[in-house]
Amino acid sequence: MRIARFSIDGNVAFGAVEGEGPDGLVLDIIKGIPYAEFELSGTKVPLNKVRLLPPVLPNKVVAIGRNYAEHAAELGNEVPDVPVAFFKPTTSVIGSGDAIEYPSFSNELHHEAELAVVIGRMCREVPRERVKDVIFGYTCANDVTARDAQKREKQWARAKGFDTSCPLGPWVETDLDPHDLTIQATVNGEQRQLGRTSDMIRSIEDLVVHITEAMTLLPGDVILTGTPAGVGPLHVGDEVAVTIEGIGTLTNKVIKRG
Ligand code: MG
Repeated sequence: MRIARFSIDGNVAFGAVEGEGPDGLVLDIIKGIPYAEFELSGTKVPLNKVRLLPPVLPNKVVAIGRNYAEHAAELGNEVPDVPVAFFKPTTSVIGSGDAIEYPSFSNELHHEAELAVVIGRMCREVPRERVKDVIFGYTCANDVTARDAQKREKQWARAKGFDTSCPLGPWVETDLDPHDLTIQATVNGEQRQLGRTSDMIRSIEDLVVHITEAMTLLPGDVILTGTPAGVGPLHVGDEVAVTIEGIGTLTNKVIKRG
């Protein structure tokens, strides 16, 4: 099931996405909370009449760096012995169709297409064989990065944590085998990144074990699993789209911060 979060006439709701796009998609409004018990109301609204919101409101976004060998190599980095983990703050999260605001302290903004794992249950110290039980679903992410600041500053809080640096969406797909999917990024319709999730160095299972060894994950928390090769610059006016097979397309425009 594809679950979107949206607003219409000032009200916010979750809905199950049904039909085929782009104009045939409808949302069946959900009664209850998607992570717990819920039912479909049968009340349907056309998707093109609503504003999509980030499909989840995470308590935290834990991101993994350098998880595809070709991407590590293109930036001149070794594949690390242990996964590199960092946070993106909740204030960095935006939905599909929202604008990425080019930060004033950077002249080198990059896109990073990533598969995002959405957690469905509170969990800690998850054993490998239980990882599938704590995952709610998957969505597309863009780990937008101020590359110049990332190189300049030892920690990446500003470079990867500025407002609007974490587009998520367009919805969460709950029925998906994530292990061998095409993942790509285009800028203004031109392909920039292309990879397969099977090329991840550490699997989703490895990452959930690694992260929950340290911290409790809550329903709605998000793990970004790293980006394939082909990262590159974004400029004001660009439209960047992240597409993952079986999920959909996350689209955002880059604007000057007002
Ligand atoms: Mg990344």
